Amino acid sequence: MSKGITSKNEDYSQWYNDIVIKADLAEHSSVKGCMVIKPYGYSIWEKMQAVLDQKFKDTGHSNAYFPLFIPKSFFSKEASHVEGFATECAVVTHYRLKNDGNGNIIVDETAKLEEELIVRPTSETIIWNTYKGWIQSYRDLPILVNQWANVVRWEMRTRLFLRTTEFLWQEGHTAHATSDEAIAETKQMLDVYADFAENWMGLPVVKGVKTANERFAGALDTYCIEALMQDGKALQAGTSHFLGQNFAKAFDVKFTSKEGKQEHVWASSWGVSTRLIGALIMAHSDDAGLVLPPKLAPIQVVIVPIYKNDEELQKIGAFAAELSSKLKNMGVSVKYDNRDTQRPGFKFAEYELKGVPVRLAIGGRDMENGTVELARRDTREKQTVPQDGLEIYIAQLMEEIQANIYNKALNYRAEHITEANSYDELKELLDGKAGFIAAHWDGTPETEQKIKEETKATIRCIPLDNKLEDGVCIYSGKPSIQRVLFARAY
Ligand code: AMP
Repeated sequence: MSKGITSKNEDYSQWYNDIVIKADLAEHSSVKGCMVIKPYGYSIWEKMQAVLDQKFKDTGHSNAYFPLFIPKSFFSKEASHVEGFATECAVVTHYRLKNDGNGNIIVDETAKLEEELIVRPTSETIIWNTYKGWIQSYRDLPILVNQWANVVRWEMRTRLFLRTTEFLWQEGHTAHATSDEAIAETKQMLDVYADFAENWMGLPVVKGVKTANERFAGALDTYCIEALMQDGKALQAGTSHFLGQNFAKAFDVKFTSKEGKQEHVWASSWGVSTRLIGALIMAHSDDAGLVLPPKLAPIQVVIVPIYKNDEELQKIGAFAAELSSKLKNMGVSVKYDNRDTQRPGFKFAEYELKGVPVRLAIGGRDMENGTVELARRDTREKQTVPQDGLEIYIAQLMEEIQANIYNKALNYRAEHITEANSYDELKELLDGKAGFIAAHWDGTPETEQKIKEETKATIRCIPLDNKLEDGVCIYSGKPSIQRVLFARAY
């Protein structure tokens, strides 16, 4: 089964595609750039959603839902927003089809919309147009709303999960009485994302702020979490934007302050998408397939019986049922795979490919000896362990595997953050797939743009925990006060 996965070192991009397809996560659809998320892939997304949703609720947010369509005029109200998204908008112009009399279905030109509708690429405009009706006084604030939805951005170069034309995400949209409050919210949600990435996905991230070139269209500041993939490329895993009063001004959303003054409302927005599944794959998997952190694995333990006759199968089945119920009580999900249509070797390869963290194989001799064979997906080690107290051992092992996956990624990242002190050094490191490169930059968009054009590397972020350090820009030689992180990115 694992045969047919291209080796990671041979062709990273093909390796990634092979895993997505062969682990049954998703497939290309008949609509270019749009994917079908298959049940196994979707169950990972559901796990992510459940954890994130709880975190949003724990920080005081509620879910709501806004329309898929946005009147075109809304878009033009915030100048930089429309400029940023204009080139990737799908536009609805008509609302009816008709038969042309020759059996062809064509657009009914008489059913033209008076105002065209944009399929949302993000919902700030429709939400702030709605908030205008919700906010009159400081008593109406803050508004802490999240939406789980699909959005469409007409991407030219797509890749399963990482960049698709339609993608699933959540978008938080909050409204506040003060700038400080909106900034605190922006940073709080960045922390929520970082916590989720590190403690659930096992993915170490750098928290930082984007440069003006990379900022969200319409934001004053874009904060982000940046992760490193196993080919040394970076991936923006989540963003949290401080929008200032831009959208409140564009949609005329004012409130009466405690002092009785009319003021514009302050805003934040923040989102993570199905791209996170791509991050999960790229950060942890190997040549045998997917490696999933236990906390996000749809199946955490699989039990495969190995039997010569019905009597053996019955004994193994009874033990598996008892173990499964103990594990389920401890919050561990289990699948007992007694299909008689596949051989154990086939099943082993299949669960490896699908990244199930722990596999138990139980044979007739194991039943006599009171043991099982346990295989860990992360290290691919096998060991014989006693049946007695197995559920406790497995529950602990889940934590150990979770920690091991994170530490492995953390070590990889530690080895892939390098300082460059000249432009030549930066280029050399980039060609050597060095990962993040910390270098001095003069702070100008022009220099950043030149470096991007010449090397394809972008400034991923200015890390929030940066130490100030006098230096000179590697490109222009002008003074710089800190290093920023460059990388080629997805
Ligand atoms: P943004 O609204 O541009 O800040 O993006 C919000 C989140 O969606 C970020 O975490 C992005 O990494 C992710 N994202 C942006 N574009 C895409 C896309 N085409 N496919 C999947 N995820 C995306």
